[in-house]
Amino acid sequence: MIQKLLRKAFGVSRDYHCFQVEYALGRIVAYLEVKAQALVCPRCRTPGEVIRKGSRCRCLQAVPVGLQAVYLVTEVARCQCHRCDVLFEVHPPLPGRRCAIRASSKSSWTD
Ligand SMILES: [Zn+2]
Repeated sequence: MIQKLLRKAFGVSRDYHCFQVEYALGRIVAYLEVKAQALVCPRCRTPGEVIRKGSRCRCLQAVPVGLQAVYLVTEVARCQCHRCDVLFEVHPPLPGRRCAIRASSKSSWTD
């Protein structure tokens, strides 16, 4: 049910799974992780050749529900395609851009 609410009310993509929801201090926090089906290379569109190269979290403030602030804490997966060697990030699950390709696919990620 929470998946459907997030999708219908906030536009969260089906490619994300909500694994935890917290209700505290006047706010609702939903934690989202990207599903393996969303890890598709933006250049060659081959899903089976993509591996994870880490991730980071991003906190997005959504529209409130009543007086409760709503936050979506989402995973931004870093990936690499073995076929074309491109590094990319899967963007947060809201409408808009789907991924970003690094300017130099040969450089390493900095953490
Ligand atoms: Zn590729």
